Amino acid sequence: MPLEIVRNDITKMKVDAVVNAANESLLGGGGVDGAIHYAAGVELLEECRTLGGCKTGKAKITGGYKLPAKYVIHTVGPIYEDGKHGEKALLESCYRESLALAKAHDCETVAFPLISSGVYGYPKDQALKVAIDVISEFLLKNEMMVYIVIFDKAAYKISEKLFSDIAEYIDDNYVHEHTKYLCGSIRMNAPMISYTNFEKTDDLAAKLRQIDESFSQMLLRKIDEKGMTDAECYKKANIDRKLFSKIRSDINYKPSKPTALAFAISLELSLAETEEMLRKAGFALSHSNKFDIIIEYFISRGNYNIFEINEALFAFDQSLLGA
Ligand code: ADP
Repeated sequence: MPLEIVRNDITKMKVDAVVNAANESLLGGGGVDGAIHYAAGVELLEECRTLGGCKTGKAKITGGYKLPAKYVIHTVGPIYEDGKHGEKALLESCYRESLALAKAHDCETVAFPLISSGVYGYPKDQALKVAIDVISEFLLKNEMMVYIVIFDKAAYKISEKLFSDIAEYIDDNYVHEHTKYLCGSIRMNAPMISYTNFEKTDDLAAKLRQIDESFSQMLLRKIDEKGMTDAECYKKANIDRKLFSKIRSDINYKPSKPTALAFAISLELSLAETEEMLRKAGFALSHSNKFDIIIEYFISRGNYNIFEINEALFAFDQSLLGA
């Protein structure tokens, strides 16, 4: 099951386990640690006292007490010095150990804060990348719904370079609604994206058959052509198994646009193929929509990492792909 980035206070998350960015004493502190202890009540501190602390990069589990979550997984992130003191390996270990503990306790839903990214000083864009890399790798082999909880927008930062690249791409391609009305037509240097399906091929009959293909049929055909399993495809699409089964069993299923795009990304379709797949679901990519332009930015660069795409969509206040 998928990974989602949400903006929330982690103490409000109704999940099986919330992860706490604790310190080695496990006896409470500031930031998210303080918020979790405050919301869970003193019993949490009492249980923590029995644990004998926790080493950096490791994790321990307790009850959730007054929290909506059943468990709290306490993990100790590294204090960031200069990136040359094993900080990354330790931070990766925090996510891995926490996920392993959650799995051992049959948790189906887990929420993480951005560990080490507060007073421990880990650069936020890199902290986010570590979180996404480790969690998405775990999700390829495990069924779990994982949330990365971003407390405030200021705490959220994709790399400056990526942000400014995308912002520039949007600027170059965005067709403002008012431009359309003022000029009576869409600016010539920013046309609607339109791609022809038919490359030169002798196999015209096969192509013609594909015209009548439904979204679901095209999806299943592409999965076969790419030599993927169903599970590989829906996991990479950040789509849960139930939704995939629904699409699989209903030949006329009409997915939402983010779902259709999530599959296009998972299948690593070209822009032309992405357009074709979207059309089957009754959608198109346009340049009057930031969401579409961001998707186009990634596809045209051959970057099909759905989690990175979602990071960028989140940073630009757009809805996310998949779940
Ligand atoms: P660390 O010591 O590991 O850096 P902090 O608690 O200082 O831990 O910060 C970790 C991250 O948690 C920061 O990005 C901070 O903005 C965020 N944070 C703080 N309070 C909350 C909360 N209630 N819910 C979710 N995230 C929070």
